[in-house]
Amino acid sequence: MNIHEYQAKAILAQYNVPVPRGGVAYTPAEAEAVAQKLGGKLWVVKAQIHAGGRGKAGGVKLAKTIDEVSQHAAKMIGMTLVTHQTGPVGKEVKRVYIEEGSNIAEEMYLSMIVDRATSRVTIMASSEGGMDIEEVAEKYPQKIFMIGIDPVSGIQLFHIRKLAFSLKIKKELQGKFAEFVTNLYRAFIEKDVSQLEINPLVITKENNIIALDAKFNFDENALYRHQDVTELRDEDEEDPLERKAAKFGLSYVKMDGNIGCMVNGAGLAMATMDIIKYYGGLPANFLDVGGGATKEKVTEAFKIILSDSSVEGILVNIFGGIMRCDIIADGVIAAAREVSLDVPLVVRLEGTNVELGKKMLATSGLPILPADNLADAAQRIVDAVRKAAA
Ligand code: GDP
Ligand code: MN
Repeated sequence: MNIHEYQAKAILAQYNVPVPRGGVAYTPAEAEAVAQKLGGKLWVVKAQIHAGGRGKAGGVKLAKTIDEVSQHAAKMIGMTLVTHQTGPVGKEVKRVYIEEGSNIAEEMYLSMIVDRATSRVTIMASSEGGMDIEEVAEKYPQKIFMIGIDPVSGIQLFHIRKLAFSLKIKKELQGKFAEFVTNLYRAFIEKDVSQLEINPLVITKENNIIALDAKFNFDENALYRHQDVTELRDEDEEDPLERKAAKFGLSYVKMDGNIGCMVNGAGLAMATMDIIKYYGGLPANFLDVGGGATKEKVTEAFKIILSDSSVEGILVNIFGGIMRCDIIADGVIAAAREVSLDVPLVVRLEGTNVELGKKMLATSGLPILPADNLADAAQRIVDAVRKAAA
């Protein structure tokens, strides 16, 4: 789960990671009030959307007067920002963050990520802050420094020394840097963050180290123990189908293909996607209905798949262990009737009550193509979609 920059900075502040002072605003008048309260001579107006690259797209503006603050805010609120991370449709700006301006001397990059390959927290640092890290990685990979932290021992001084060395942190700032990284790591661990990016981390002309931008991604499986983080969810920023799926306890991820999948168990879902690809098709989604799905859950899953306009065929592949095949059949039939199914549907059932499930499908009067095994099912749906398109 992602959160907004201003929310991320509030969490950083809780952990004593220095961030500029600021306040969120939903209207130009509120923006003006925030700027008044902050005082000073320079402010930054920042569009709050769940995507980076705002600077280049006009979503980060400096203001030298309070009037300029409200002008920028008026322009930004309601505008659709298209950045390299939003996709071509862009994202509508509904709130802005007003910050006190900083005197930037240097911009750097620092991020932390749960690295599955090493089972560690990898910290990445680069002296090339402010710009796209993807571009740095491509053009100057030698400018990205990485270090793995064993989660048992946690972050140690030698890690920090290596990071400081790679970023060429001045001697007199090394104490502040050590504190910054240690506190950041503590926030990362305690809040069950899966990815955290500070770009840029800046050294100011007054010799302070601050997080000028912050992106957090939280491990959804750990949200149950972070009520405070859960409350930061901004549904406007999330994919409406993924949001609906989450409401019904379904794991759904939209993909680029045209064959919708409804499967139980993440492993079987992956295998199903693989085999669709093997037979020349492309999955439109990953959808795991879970072990103990009810008829209602299956119906919702079905509706979610069908409301994706790129879906040209559906493959249901269920192994009925905990989940009984007759319940799946019941859900599929109910959903197909409710949404007036107009794409080919292949159903492969196996496990508890499989005969009953198959019989229910066969006698439903619906144009459901039965399949006996996974390979057969994948071939059938790929063929059916191809024929329907021809
Ligand atoms: P992003 O483009 O979405 O990643 O937004 P950032 O928050 O990283 O801001 C983009 C750029 O705006 C930064 O790299 C800075 O160069 C600039 N910027 C942001 N805040 C300030 C500020 O307080 N003072 C100055 N001078 N520049 C700023
Ligand atoms: Mn940034």
